[in-house]
Amino acid sequence: MIETDILIIGAGPVGLFTVFEAGLLKLKCHLIDSLPQIGGQCSEIYPKKPIYDIPAYPSILAGDLSDKLMEQIAPFKPGFTLGETAVSIEETEDNQFIVTTNKGTKHKAKNIAIAGGLGVFTPRKPPIPTIKQFEDKGIDYIVKDPEKFRDKKVVISGGGDSALDWAIFLAEGVAKEVSLVHRSKSFRGHLDSVQKIMDMATEGKIDLMTDSEVFELKGDSDLETVTIKTKEAENTIKKVDYWLPLFGLTPKLGPIAKWGLEIEKNAIKVDTFDYSTNREGIYAVGDVNTYPGKLKLILCGFHEATLMVQSAFKRVHPDKNNVLKYTTVNGVNGF
Ligand SMILES: Cc1cc2nc3c(=O)[nH]c(=O)nc-3n(C[C@H](O)[C@H](O)[C@H](O)COP(=O)(O)OP(=O)(O)OC[C@H]3O[C@@H](n4cnc5c(N)ncnc54)[C@H](O)[C@@H]3O)c2cc1C
Repeated sequence: MIETDILIIGAGPVGLFTVFEAGLLKLKCHLIDSLPQIGGQCSEIYPKKPIYDIPAYPSILAGDLSDKLMEQIAPFKPGFTLGETAVSIEETEDNQFIVTTNKGTKHKAKNIAIAGGLGVFTPRKPPIPTIKQFEDKGIDYIVKDPEKFRDKKVVISGGGDSALDWAIFLAEGVAKEVSLVHRSKSFRGHLDSVQKIMDMATEGKIDLMTDSEVFELKGDSDLETVTIKTKEAENTIKKVDYWLPLFGLTPKLGPIAKWGLEIEKNAIKVDTFDYSTNREGIYAVGDVNTYPGKLKLILCGFHEATLMVQSAFKRVHPDKNNVLKYTTVNGVNGF
């Protein structure tokens, strides 16, 4: 049994910053995340994109923000259960909670901070029977590190921003060959990106195939070819190193939705006094919560976490009064 003061479900930017604010109050934290790495959306979806609205960082790559948060919380030595999903929660007689993961790991804490973001991200997959066979063997649903595709032959499918952005990026001197395959002639992405794709197709930098769809995958062990059908044309067989079906990710709140919490529009309703939920001792911070005026932004989540730990402190130390102390005066005294 792992015991801690605040058990944080979700190791995205908001979950990580919660450790810092809790640490200032001498509260210990442990984090659980379904993903094998920390950073939430920042690490999983857009690690190489710059963020421009983190105070005092005119620009910071999302992956670097995760690294900086880890550096900031290091003095407080948080514990991690990564690659496991929190599936159930039960209350004990001594007014604590036990959270169990899908792998059976048990965690006990007086306070639960749900920082589960939009939930567990699952990619929308095209209905090709052999698709599973080539996952991680030539098929990626998310671009984590574009360097993986250097000098490779890549086919991208999709018509949204993600497909357009990565097609442009990879065709600009990264991949050896880039094809963009899209079901229709119109795109859902930004007009600038659509224009850029058209220009790059005219310049021969991207093989643009509209009214087209990948429908067959072949390869011995790794993916070797994709077959594309196009309206009123012969099928095309392309040799590939990678196929990236970028049809978007569907967030699913997952097990959290079954924990007796008040849910509205796929998010947990909270009281903005301390971001508490309808269950005493369970809080929700970051993208996972909702309240009037809610903005799903990292800096809003940081603020929520800062207020939330004040209430968590009172549950751990009902007889103590916490007085706000500036870090400039007290410094950061880890454990
Ligand atoms: C492309 C893109 C660009 C963005 N740009 C900006 C920007 O410029 N500025 C900005 O402020 N915001 C931006 N955002 C939004 C920002 O990323 C989110 O607001 C932020 O990630 C929310 O942080 P979080 O910690 O609340 O949740 P998340 O980052 O979503 O992390 C939640 C974590 O919880 C885990 N989890 C969920 N359920 C469970 C469970 N049951 N058990 C275990 N783990 C679980 C998930 O695996 C995930 O790792 C952007 C988002 C995207 C997709």
